[in-house]
Amino acid sequence: MVHSEGDIGPATTVLLRQIPAVNELLSRSALRDLQARVGRRLVVESARRALQRLRDRIVEGSLSSVSLAALEQEIAIEAKAAASFSLKAVINASGVVLHTNLGRAPLAREALEHLAQVSTSYSNLEYDLALGARGKRDAHTDRLLGRLLGAEKALVVNNNAAAVFLALNTLAEGAEIVVSRGELIEIGGSFRIPDVCAKSGAILREVGTTNRTRIGDYAAAINERTRVLLRVHPSNFRILGFTERPSLEEFVDLAQRHNLISVEDLGSGCLVDLSPHGIRDEPTASASLNAGVDVITFSGDKLLGGPQAGILAGKREPLERIRKNPLFRALRVDKLTIAALEATISLYLQGKPQAIPALRMIQLSREAIHQRATCLAERLSTHPQFSARVQDGDSVIGGGSTPAQSLPTALLAVTHSRHSAQELERLLRQNPLPVIARVEQDALLLDLRTVFEEQDEDLLRALERIE
Ligand SMILES: *Cc1c(COP(=O)(O)O)cnc(C)c1O
Repeated sequence: MVHSEGDIGPATTVLLRQIPAVNELLSRSALRDLQARVGRRLVVESARRALQRLRDRIVEGSLSSVSLAALEQEIAIEAKAAASFSLKAVINASGVVLHTNLGRAPLAREALEHLAQVSTSYSNLEYDLALGARGKRDAHTDRLLGRLLGAEKALVVNNNAAAVFLALNTLAEGAEIVVSRGELIEIGGSFRIPDVCAKSGAILREVGTTNRTRIGDYAAAINERTRVLLRVHPSNFRILGFTERPSLEEFVDLAQRHNLISVEDLGSGCLVDLSPHGIRDEPTASASLNAGVDVITFSGDKLLGGPQAGILAGKREPLERIRKNPLFRALRVDKLTIAALEATISLYLQGKPQAIPALRMIQLSREAIHQRATCLAERLSTHPQFSARVQDGDSVIGGGSTPAQSLPTALLAVTHSRHSAQELERLLRQNPLPVIARVEQDALLLDLRTVFEEQDEDLLRALERIE
């Protein structure tokens, strides 16, 4: 003990003597039950810490009695918190469909079922059942992606950043890559195209200007060291006004005439035409492959709506070289990802993209959202502390897609008689099932586009808990 009892008064000494021993505490019935639920180790650790805090408070003189009941409660709260998961489900009422902080795309139920089945059992991950011999894990996704995208070959790695890195490292290490200055972007989490090029061992030749790059700018930079022409989807930003960028066809044609490999980082990996939903400037993977791009890369958990992954697809020759890169092994995906990705892609092939939550949410009409918001507003208004109304607003796709375009939505705007909008936001965030909302102009705004319909009741309950 830090303090010797000689320095402190007699009242403190009496209190210190009332501190129970750890074993005495653990044998009390409430803590015995707790040990049965969360295990002995977490309860013992919480008890030790609670006793230390108690001792400190007594010595500080900020405690006048020792309450075993209070002590037990403190230990129970701490041990339960330690036993609970850190990563947990939240309700996304932010209206950002592919929210990078909230795990991007939620998986389809079909993906989860396939993942559960394959991963809780043995599987043919690297076993060719027809031949009874060792197989490649690539086989499972190569077949489906090839069919879906019309690609000669496809590979899957950990994420799109890894896909870009692996492509550039394989195809241009020690050589030059030509890229437009208007595409030298940074994606969240410090993925910067110039840095990735540098780490891949390639030399970057920047051409053109931020807002205008012509095909002649690329052509003028090509020399005997050039290996790759790189095109990058500007993702999370747009340059408006006086802009110019070569067409895909011009880009591919120039690469082919100079025997160079064309690589396109598509970012989002949009596989379906979203123009009926007002999203017009999102390039699709098949448009790039049809135009003749040699290698495209995109994410699995953005517009594709699957697990985190990076997909490389295109011509057989460059992809086979990428597959042989020793770094492929370091960046490859595990069976959980393969299972979830295979099931997600299969939904596209079966013509059921609406089974993919992110795509379903993007396609929800403002009217359908308005109806749900109105229903919640009416039910919330029966509580005198709340006032709720429905107002027009915008949802966004997020994940670096289509920054200039939004989806019209209906927002549930909530105010409370005692709490500010900021406090409401915090209380919802700290709900056992956390709700992520936005605050604008002193109102709490909830966008039901990104709330699963079956979560509307949970959302209402989270609000009703706020007194
Ligand atoms: C999102 C994005 C990346 C990074 O993809 P991750 O799957 O997050 O690694 C790379 N390039 C572009 C253009 C992107 O939009």
